[in-house]
Amino acid sequence: MREPTVALLRRAVHLVLPPACAGCGEALEFDGGRVCARCTTRLREPPHPRCARCHAPRGTGLPAARPCPECADWPEGLIAARSAAILEPPADTLVYALKYGGWPELAPFMAERMHRILPGMSSSRTLLVVPVPTTVSRERERGYNQAALLAREVGRRAGLSISPALVRHEGGGTQVSLHRRERADNVRDAFQPALAATADVGGREVLLVDDVLTTGATAAAAGLVLLEMGAKSVSVLTFARALPGDPT
Ligand SMILES: [Zn+2]
Ligand SMILES: [Zn+2]
Repeated sequence: MREPTVALLRRAVHLVLPPACAGCGEALEFDGGRVCARCTTRLREPPHPRCARCHAPRGTGLPAARPCPECADWPEGLIAARSAAILEPPADTLVYALKYGGWPELAPFMAERMHRILPGMSSSRTLLVVPVPTTVSRERERGYNQAALLAREVGRRAGLSISPALVRHEGGGTQVSLHRRERADNVRDAFQPALAATADVGGREVLLVDDVLTTGATAAAAGLVLLEMGAKSVSVLTFARALPGDPT
Protein backbone atom coordinates (compact mmCIF):
# COMPACT_ATOMS: atom_id res chain seq x y z
CA MET A 1 0.00 0.00 0.00
CA ARG A 2 1.31 3.42 -0.86
CA GLU A 3 2.46 5.57 2.00
CA PRO A 4 -0.13 8.36 1.59
CA THR A 5 -2.90 5.81 1.68
CA VAL A 6 -1.54 4.36 4.93
CA ALA A 7 -1.31 7.83 6.44
CA LEU A 8 -4.86 8.63 5.34
CA LEU A 9 -6.18 5.41 6.85
CA ARG A 10 -4.42 6.13 10.12
CA ARG A 11 -5.92 9.59 10.14
CA ALA A 12 -9.37 8.13 9.54
CA VAL A 13 -8.86 5.72 12.44
CA HIS A 14 -7.95 8.61 14.76
CA LEU A 15 -11.22 10.27 13.89
CA VAL A 16 -13.49 7.32 14.67
CA LEU A 17 -11.78 5.79 17.73
CA PRO A 18 -11.95 7.32 21.20
CA PRO A 19 -9.00 9.71 21.60
CA ALA A 20 -5.81 7.97 22.71
CA CYS A 21 -2.41 9.32 23.80
CA ALA A 22 0.05 9.40 20.90
CA GLY A 23 2.83 8.45 23.33
CA CYS A 24 1.39 5.42 25.14
CA GLY A 25 -2.00 4.66 23.59
CA GLU A 26 -3.93 5.16 26.84
CA ALA A 27 -7.40 6.62 26.44
CA LEU A 28 -7.54 10.38 26.83
CA GLU A 29 -10.13 12.65 28.27
CA PHE A 30 -11.64 14.47 25.35
CA ASP A 31 -10.06 17.84 25.93
CA GLY A 32 -8.36 18.33 22.61
CA GLY A 33 -4.97 17.18 23.92
CA ARG A 34 -3.04 14.46 22.12
CA VAL A 35 -0.54 13.44 24.79
CA CYS A 36 -1.41 12.26 28.32
CA ALA A 37 -0.12 13.93 31.47
CA ARG A 38 2.12 10.97 32.31
CA CYS A 39 3.86 11.00 28.91
CA THR A 40 4.24 14.77 29.16
CA THR A 41 6.03 14.52 32.51
CA ARG A 42 8.32 11.78 31.16
CA LEU A 43 9.81 14.12 28.53
CA ARG A 44 13.20 15.30 29.77
CA GLU A 45 15.72 17.75 28.44
CA PRO A 46 19.32 16.68 27.76
CA PRO A 47 20.89 16.11 31.21
CA HIS A 48 23.74 18.13 32.70
CA PRO A 49 26.67 18.44 32.30
CA ARG A 50 26.28 19.30 28.65
CA CYS A 51 28.09 21.20 25.93
CA ALA A 52 27.36 24.92 26.21
CA ARG A 53 27.02 25.18 22.43
CA CYS A 54 25.10 22.07 21.35
CA HIS A 55 23.74 20.74 24.67
CA ALA A 56 25.11 17.24 24.06
CA PRO A 57 25.40 15.53 27.44
CA ARG A 58 29.12 15.36 28.26
CA GLY A 59 29.28 12.80 31.03
CA THR A 60 30.83 13.69 34.34
CA GLY A 61 34.50 14.17 35.09
CA LEU A 62 35.54 15.39 31.62
CA PRO A 63 37.76 18.49 31.51
CA ALA A 64 35.54 21.43 30.60
CA ALA A 65 38.12 22.68 28.08
CA ARG A 66 38.02 19.47 26.04
CA PRO A 67 36.33 20.15 22.70
CA CYS A 68 32.88 18.64 22.31
CA PRO A 69 33.05 15.91 19.64
CA GLU A 70 29.41 16.45 18.73
CA CYS A 71 29.73 20.00 17.41
CA ALA A 72 33.46 20.27 16.64
CA ASP A 73 32.84 19.99 12.87
CA TRP A 74 29.98 22.49 12.72
CA PRO A 75 30.41 25.76 10.85
CA GLU A 76 31.49 28.56 13.17
CA GLY A 77 28.29 30.55 12.64
CA LEU A 78 26.17 27.65 13.87
CA ILE A 79 26.20 28.91 17.41
CA ALA A 80 23.72 26.78 19.35
CA ALA A 81 21.51 23.72 19.29
CA ARG A 82 18.70 23.12 21.76
CA SER A 83 16.19 20.31 22.05
CA ALA A 84 13.09 20.00 24.20
CA ALA A 85 13.54 16.27 24.92
CA ILE A 86 15.93 13.35 24.76
CA LEU A 87 14.98 10.91 22.00
CA GLU A 88 13.72 8.17 24.30
CA PRO A 89 10.19 6.98 25.16
CA PRO A 90 7.81 8.66 24.78
CA ALA A 91 9.55 11.41 22.74
CA ASP A 92 10.67 8.90 20.09
CA THR A 93 7.11 7.64 19.69
CA LEU A 94 5.82 11.18 19.25
CA VAL A 95 8.51 11.96 16.66
CA TYR A 96 7.63 8.83 14.73
CA ALA A 97 3.88 9.54 14.91
CA LEU A 98 4.36 13.06 13.57
CA LYS A 99 6.77 12.01 10.83
CA TYR A 100 5.33 8.73 9.59
CA GLY A 101 2.08 8.11 11.41
CA GLY A 102 -0.14 10.76 9.90
CA TRP A 103 -0.45 12.71 13.17
CA PRO A 104 0.17 16.33 12.15
CA GLU A 105 -2.07 17.37 15.04
CA LEU A 106 0.84 16.54 17.37
CA ALA A 107 2.77 19.55 16.07
CA PRO A 108 1.18 22.12 18.43
CA PHE A 109 2.03 20.00 21.51
CA MET A 110 5.61 19.43 20.38
CA ALA A 111 6.08 23.06 19.37
CA GLU A 112 4.82 24.15 22.79
CA ARG A 113 7.64 22.14 24.40
CA MET A 114 10.13 23.71 21.99
CA HIS A 115 8.82 27.21 22.63
CA ARG A 116 9.39 26.72 26.36
CA ILE A 117 13.16 26.44 25.90
CA LEU A 118 13.37 29.25 23.35
CA PRO A 119 13.95 32.04 25.91
CA GLY A 120 17.13 30.25 26.97
CA MET A 121 18.48 30.31 23.43
CA SER A 122 18.48 33.95 22.54
CA SER A 123 17.32 37.29 23.83
CA SER A 124 16.58 38.33 20.27
CA ARG A 125 13.00 39.06 19.32
CA THR A 126 13.99 39.25 15.69
CA LEU A 127 14.96 35.64 15.01
CA LEU A 128 13.93 34.39 11.58
CA VAL A 129 12.44 30.91 11.79
CA VAL A 130 13.48 28.57 8.95
CA PRO A 131 12.22 24.98 8.77
CA VAL A 132 14.56 22.23 7.62
CA PRO A 133 12.99 21.31 4.28
CA THR A 134 12.22 17.84 3.05
CA THR A 135 12.16 16.78 -0.57
CA VAL A 136 9.12 17.49 -2.72
CA SER A 137 8.44 13.78 -3.17
CA ARG A 138 8.61 13.00 0.57
CA GLU A 139 6.36 15.94 1.38
CA ARG A 140 3.90 14.65 -1.19
CA GLU A 141 3.95 11.17 0.39
CA ARG A 142 3.30 12.43 3.92
CA GLY A 143 1.06 15.30 2.98
CA TYR A 144 3.19 17.73 5.01
CA ASN A 145 6.72 18.53 6.17
CA GLN A 146 6.83 17.93 9.92
CA ALA A 147 9.61 20.51 10.39
CA ALA A 148 7.48 23.15 8.65
CA LEU A 149 4.53 22.37 10.95
CA LEU A 150 6.76 22.74 14.01
CA ALA A 151 8.33 25.95 12.63
CA ARG A 152 4.91 27.47 12.02
CA GLU A 153 3.74 26.65 15.54
CA VAL A 154 6.94 27.86 17.21
CA GLY A 155 6.90 31.04 15.15
CA ARG A 156 3.28 31.72 16.02
CA ARG A 157 3.87 31.24 19.75
CA ALA A 158 7.02 33.38 19.80
CA GLY A 159 5.73 36.06 17.41
CA LEU A 160 8.61 35.42 15.00
CA SER A 161 8.51 35.54 11.22
CA ILE A 162 9.05 32.36 9.22
CA SER A 163 10.77 31.87 5.90
CA PRO A 164 11.00 28.73 3.77
CA ALA A 165 14.51 29.82 2.87
CA LEU A 166 15.90 26.42 1.92
CA VAL A 167 14.97 23.69 -0.53
CA ARG A 168 16.14 20.09 -0.43
CA HIS A 169 17.25 18.13 -3.46
CA GLU A 170 15.69 14.86 -4.41
CA GLY A 171 17.99 11.89 -3.92
CA GLY A 172 20.41 11.44 -1.07
CA GLY A 173 18.05 8.91 0.50
CA THR A 174 16.97 8.82 4.10
CA GLN A 175 19.37 9.44 6.98
CA VAL A 176 17.87 6.58 8.96
CA SER A 177 20.31 3.67 9.54
CA LEU A 178 23.35 5.64 8.39
CA HIS A 179 26.37 6.16 10.65
CA ARG A 180 27.86 9.54 11.48
CA ARG A 181 30.32 9.84 8.59
CA GLU A 182 27.78 8.46 6.11
CA ARG A 183 25.17 10.92 7.31
CA ALA A 184 27.51 13.84 6.79
CA ASP A 185 28.37 12.67 3.25
CA ASN A 186 24.75 11.93 2.43
CA VAL A 187 23.48 15.35 3.42
CA ARG A 188 26.41 17.62 2.55
CA ASP A 189 24.99 18.97 -0.71
CA ALA A 190 21.34 18.33 0.03
CA PHE A 191 20.27 21.95 0.54
CA GLN A 192 20.22 25.08 -1.56
CA PRO A 193 18.70 28.54 -1.18
CA ALA A 194 15.05 28.95 -2.10
CA LEU A 195 15.42 31.71 -4.66
CA ALA A 196 12.28 33.56 -3.59
CA ALA A 197 13.50 33.74 0.01
CA THR A 198 17.19 34.59 -0.26
CA ALA A 199 16.55 38.23 0.62
CA ASP A 200 14.92 37.17 3.92
CA VAL A 201 18.09 35.72 5.38
CA GLY A 202 20.79 38.39 4.89
CA GLY A 203 22.00 39.82 8.20
CA ARG A 204 19.44 37.83 10.20
CA GLU A 205 19.84 35.57 13.23
CA VAL A 206 18.21 32.39 12.00
CA LEU A 207 16.42 29.78 14.09
CA LEU A 208 16.56 26.53 12.14
CA VAL A 209 13.72 24.19 13.19
CA ASP A 210 13.54 20.41 12.80
CA ASP A 211 11.91 17.49 14.57
CA VAL A 212 15.06 15.64 15.61
CA LEU A 213 18.77 16.31 15.95
CA THR A 214 20.70 13.07 15.47
CA THR A 215 24.36 13.59 14.59
CA GLY A 216 23.85 17.24 13.67
CA ALA A 217 24.92 16.55 10.07
CA THR A 218 21.63 17.88 8.67
CA ALA A 219 21.79 20.98 10.86
CA ALA A 220 25.42 21.62 9.87
CA ALA A 221 24.68 21.28 6.14
CA ALA A 222 21.54 23.42 6.24
CA GLY A 223 23.22 25.92 8.57
CA LEU A 224 26.17 26.30 6.21
CA VAL A 225 23.89 27.23 3.31
CA LEU A 226 22.07 29.79 5.47
CA LEU A 227 25.40 31.32 6.51
CA GLU A 228 26.48 31.45 2.87
CA MET A 229 23.19 33.25 2.16
CA GLY A 230 24.32 35.93 4.59
CA ALA A 231 22.75 34.85 7.88
CA LYS A 232 24.48 36.52 10.84
CA SER A 233 24.19 33.34 12.88
CA VAL A 234 22.21 30.12 12.96
CA SER A 235 20.75 28.36 16.01
CA VAL A 236 19.00 25.02 15.84
CA LEU A 237 15.84 24.12 17.72
CA THR A 238 14.45 20.57 17.62
CA PHE A 239 11.82 18.72 19.57
CA ALA A 240 14.15 15.81 20.34
CA ARG A 241 17.80 14.88 20.17
CA ALA A 242 19.48 11.50 20.08
CA LEU A 243 22.06 10.94 22.76
CA PRO A 244 25.65 10.90 21.48
CA GLY A 245 26.62 7.41 20.37
CA ASP A 246 23.01 6.42 19.88
CA PRO A 247 22.81 5.11 16.31
CA THR A 248 19.07 5.72 15.94
ZN1 LIG B 1 0.60 8.74 27.25
ZN1 LIG C 1 28.87 20.47 21.49
